[in-house]
Amino acid sequence: MADPAECTIKVMCRFRPLNSSEVARGDKYIPKFTGEDQVSISGKPFMFDRVFGSNTTQEQMYKASAQKIVKDVLEGYNGTIFAFGQTSSGKTHTMEVSNVIIIKCVFPPSAVTKNNLSVHEDKNRVPYVKGCTERFVCSPEEVMDTIDEGKSNRHVAVTNMNEHSSRSHSIFQINVKQENTATEQKLSGKLYLVDLAGSEKVGKTGAEGAVLEEAKNINKSLSALGNVISALAEGSTYVPYRDSKMTRILQDSLGGNCRTTMVICASPSAYNEAETKSTLMFGQRAK
Ligand code: ADP
Ligand code: MG
Repeated sequence: MADPAECTIKVMCRFRPLNSSEVARGDKYIPKFTGEDQVSISGKPFMFDRVFGSNTTQEQMYKASAQKIVKDVLEGYNGTIFAFGQTSSGKTHTMEVSNVIIIKCVFPPSAVTKNNLSVHEDKNRVPYVKGCTERFVCSPEEVMDTIDEGKSNRHVAVTNMNEHSSRSHSIFQINVKQENTATEQKLSGKLYLVDLAGSEKVGKTGAEGAVLEEAKNINKSLSALGNVISALAEGSTYVPYRDSKMTRILQDSLGGNCRTTMVICASPSAYNEAETKSTLMFGQRAK
């Protein structure tokens, strides 16, 4: 069994490499890695459980951020892995390594699209998303197909996938149920893989009407998530799960006995310095 003393929220920070347009522009590479758990941006230090530079492989990332949670979920714990960061910082790329071998998958489409699904509570007061698509699977390939199906649902509303994903949260839920036929021992665990909407501030100009409303909702739900995570990290008796739909959905897999890892994803370019600093600040609130 996993050790209850390990039940903390882990926060990792990953910098992707400079991309081709950043290289073409001659952007400066700004993070300075000053230890396994520390990175500085223009002299300002930020501490995490681990920091990962641009040459980190997907496998190293999986081992550090997901492997332990997946193992615990297989032992009957609940867990959540988040990717947080501005658009194009590598959230989807990072979450893609966490797609694992499991038995039953559920995909709620975006929590912020028009075909909003509602959150209900069952008789044990466990929240669930009414009407979300559910698939029973029995092989890793079927899990991957289900994830692809979910991804295509995600861009129904907008043709540009990156534009849409930056304006929606993707929550992929994996339920694991196991039964040992010899001992009749039953185990069930649940894992949420959460690829959050882009955390960038909406431009003061530009966004208006429905897009501005949507951006405000995203900011609201991200700050509600930040409040929940920091309340959990501080060990507060009151955790404001009910302040957003997302935190209600995740309630039974965040805090308490659950395993939570947040991967803060960032661009290394000087061009994104302000966003990177506010992204890293968000991650620090969980420490
Ligand atoms: P986000 O989901 O945060 O908007 P993506 O995961 O889509 O960002 O990443 C944007 C682009 O950068 C993609 O083309 C992706 O393949 C690439 N990328 C992101 N992280 C890395 C990385 N660590 N190494 C190499 N390429 C990366
Ligand atoms: Mg993405």
